[in-house]
Amino acid sequence: MKVRTRFAPSPTGYLHVGGIRTALFAWLVARQAKGQFILRLEDTDKKREVAGADQHLMDSLKALGLNYDEGPDIGGPHGPYRQSERLDSYKQWAQKLIDAGRAYADPYSPEEVQAFREAAQKAKKPFLYRNHRPENPPAWDGSQPLRFKSEPKAYKWHDEVMCDLSTEPEVIDDFILIKSDGYPTYNFAHIVDDAEMEISHIIRGQEFLASVPNYLNLYEALGIKPPVMATMPHIMNEQGNKKLSKRDGAKDVLDYIREGYLPETLVSFIASLGWNDGTEQEVFTAQELIEKFSLDRVGRSGAHFDERRLLWTNGHFIRAMKLDGLYEKVADYWGPEAKDADEEYKKKVLGLVQERLKYFAELPELTKFFFVDLPVDPKLISEHKQLKKLSKDELRDLLQKSRDSLAESDFTLDDLTERLNKLLEETGQKPAVLFSLIRIAITQAPSSPGLADTLAVLGKEKSQFRISTQLAAL
Ligand code: GLU
Repeated sequence: MKVRTRFAPSPTGYLHVGGIRTALFAWLVARQAKGQFILRLEDTDKKREVAGADQHLMDSLKALGLNYDEGPDIGGPHGPYRQSERLDSYKQWAQKLIDAGRAYADPYSPEEVQAFREAAQKAKKPFLYRNHRPENPPAWDGSQPLRFKSEPKAYKWHDEVMCDLSTEPEVIDDFILIKSDGYPTYNFAHIVDDAEMEISHIIRGQEFLASVPNYLNLYEALGIKPPVMATMPHIMNEQGNKKLSKRDGAKDVLDYIREGYLPETLVSFIASLGWNDGTEQEVFTAQELIEKFSLDRVGRSGAHFDERRLLWTNGHFIRAMKLDGLYEKVADYWGPEAKDADEEYKKKVLGLVQERLKYFAELPELTKFFFVDLPVDPKLISEHKQLKKLSKDELRDLLQKSRDSLAESDFTLDDLTERLNKLLEETGQKPAVLFSLIRIAITQAPSSPGLADTLAVLGKEKSQFRISTQLAAL
């Protein structure tokens, strides 16, 4: 089978990071089979359209490296790739249905439909449009909705994720194909487009699952063979009690990229929302995903969006980078205090914080003290678990001894390490006490890279000056 998958978003808002998952999975299925991945914009709900959302979608896919082979901005043999530009197609297919007696103009006003609904409710029966088919429908002139005339029956079908499914005839109903504004509904348009675009696999969210029997009914009426279907479970918030939304902190892809999350991170993380390869492996490169991904390993229950895991994954990919490559990537993220520092010094600093950096935007916070003398913060000592137990005299004594010993050092890493260890012996202190104290004195920050490394990069002059400043403040 020629594999052709598509991502078919509606430009009704910015997609959050979880929303791109269906795009990633569709892309993986296509790339794995050396098939094509298509972007189609489903812009038929003009009321809900958000300006700029289409560009944002395309930029997001590109930022993640999810390149598409056909799409609105690049064209392709099955274009146009915006539904609003395909209205003629829908009309032609609609005409076929009308000619076959399988579609009718819906003559009812919203008030009349409401009355039908209420009557059904009173009778404790499900409301079905097909119970109200007009006996002599007017000829469809485009001013009324065009409704599909269904043929209720039971269905059994296979979903690559949800497995074997079946429904009874009761769930089948007449639904709108073309609205009175001339635009098709999703229910109709996607079936026409998927057929015309020769889509082999529909990979989409769970919200469409309940409508599949109706779609199957329409496929039959149109004489179209349904593509393979794969339904993605919802992505749940961290607590797992409701569907993920922006309110749960899920940002859009471009926001994450701006904050210094790597595209590799996002791809690996998004893939893990509902999929794993059955081993303990937690991060995957795009290439590994192309090799290992399979729809039958997508879980059937909701996936959890865990922002801490996203952070952890980004840290993983940052640590794996070569220093020079990382240096280039973080160029725009240094704080203003680093403005005049030279490349060599900045690279050393970056080399030290690489281990702990979780996303680029936190670079200024992690590195500030390498560039400027921060004011003494008494709380760093007074609220420190170990240090708060020592008297001022004891603290002063430890700092003096440290300063004296460091005064003799050449500030190479080896010498510093040796001296610091000797200081531990001489003072009889634990590293958690002595090293914390020196660290606070030279950084005035709640955390920093290893002490000897930090001292070596700061250099003798700055280190001694800062210890003296701390001493004076005690
Ligand atoms: N336009 C639909 C949406 O954005 C697409 C669903 C599908 O992939 O078929 O939810």
